[in-house]
Amino acid sequence: MPGRPFLHVPGPTNVPDRILRAMNVPMEDHRSPAFPALTLPLFEDLKKVFKTTSGEPFIFPSSGTGAWEAVLTNTLCAGDRVLSVRFGQFSHLWIDLAQRHGLDVIVQQERWGDAPSPERIGDALGRDTKHEIKAVLVVQNETATGVTCDIAAIRRVLDAANHPALLFVDGVSSIGSIDFRMDEWRVDGAVSGSQKGFMLPAGFGFACMSPKAREAEAAARGKNPLRRVYFDFEDMRKTNKDGYFPYTPSIPMLYGLRESLRMLFEEGLENVFARHRRLASGVRAAVQRGWGLELCATDPATQSDTVSAVLVPEGVNGAEVIKRAYFRYNLSLGAGLSEVAGKLFRIGHLGDLNELMCLGAIAGAEMAMRDVGIEVAPGSGVAAASEVYRQDGDMQPPCAGVLAGAAARG
Ligand code: PLP
Repeated sequence: MPGRPFLHVPGPTNVPDRILRAMNVPMEDHRSPAFPALTLPLFEDLKKVFKTTSGEPFIFPSSGTGAWEAVLTNTLCAGDRVLSVRFGQFSHLWIDLAQRHGLDVIVQQERWGDAPSPERIGDALGRDTKHEIKAVLVVQNETATGVTCDIAAIRRVLDAANHPALLFVDGVSSIGSIDFRMDEWRVDGAVSGSQKGFMLPAGFGFACMSPKAREAEAAARGKNPLRRVYFDFEDMRKTNKDGYFPYTPSIPMLYGLRESLRMLFEEGLENVFARHRRLASGVRAAVQRGWGLELCATDPATQSDTVSAVLVPEGVNGAEVIKRAYFRYNLSLGAGLSEVAGKLFRIGHLGDLNELMCLGAIAGAEMAMRDVGIEVAPGSGVAAASEVYRQDGDMQPPCAGVLAGAAARG
């Protein structure tokens, strides 16, 4: 099909041309004396994205799932008890990974579409008077349902219960798009991946660990730590400190990461978050005001700024909308996963995106829905979103990022 495909799944996201160009490099020696000039600043810059000064970032040649595994296996022992909340497919998968590593997971179940309840987490911690719960695992942004949870509130209940459990947060579809404050919220292990807010291909899993997590790692080493080899933080540390890796790193991905971080800082992290909020507000207006449909995330306070999960009317299979959008309009929408399969489709609105790109996705979704018999008024979603986009937002020179990037490089 001619023209650009519209990639509106919640990851992988569009890779900006600047990043593609930055990745188009000849291979080089990853043990050369020049290599640390590329890599060492990346660790420092990643800390800024995680909003930490004391945290220790790791870059694994994996996807987010690898970083999930690294965080748990480096800090916990076989049979350790952890507390987690299942409120969508990704929280479900992290729990599954923990269980398959032999952890004893207390699963707090929430309706898919609701956020984890800090009160219930607090209750569970309060009951744990012997402090057997070693870690609390929470997904900040449940990509399957479009629900964002309040990590600061979860930190508050840990503090209120005076509980020493580590706080591990999955920020795969939030970090770099939705505010995340590792130090302020005293997060002990934060996880992300390259293919969402970082606007890169999949291929890097990021883990950022607090000093307290490092103490837990040392303590676990003296007991019966979970098994890991490739994901061992200590192996990474030994070489990372001088700008190297214990194995052959992906050179294009490292150059891509450098460009991605430059782009995030040129726009300014707070502006990146505001843009995501603005784009999401338009999508929500399209869904609710324009189409008269519901979001899977019912509470406006928890509706995600990176992905909207749109419930389709009874009797319609959401997969049909996705199929129609893909084959007829060259638009990729996210599928309903597992428990919500067929009940919804997802519009990803994160990464390298602007208003008109979102309007394109809304228009495509609208046409695809009408094609499969969902009675939404033609143009209604686009009209509702465009009114939001007209009112909000600053005037900026076109391609500001490109010009600023060129200026920054001299
Ligand atoms: N956590 C969340 C919130 C996700 O959205 C995803 C993937 O979409 C993952 C974890 C798994 O990450 P990956 O597919 O990069 O392994």
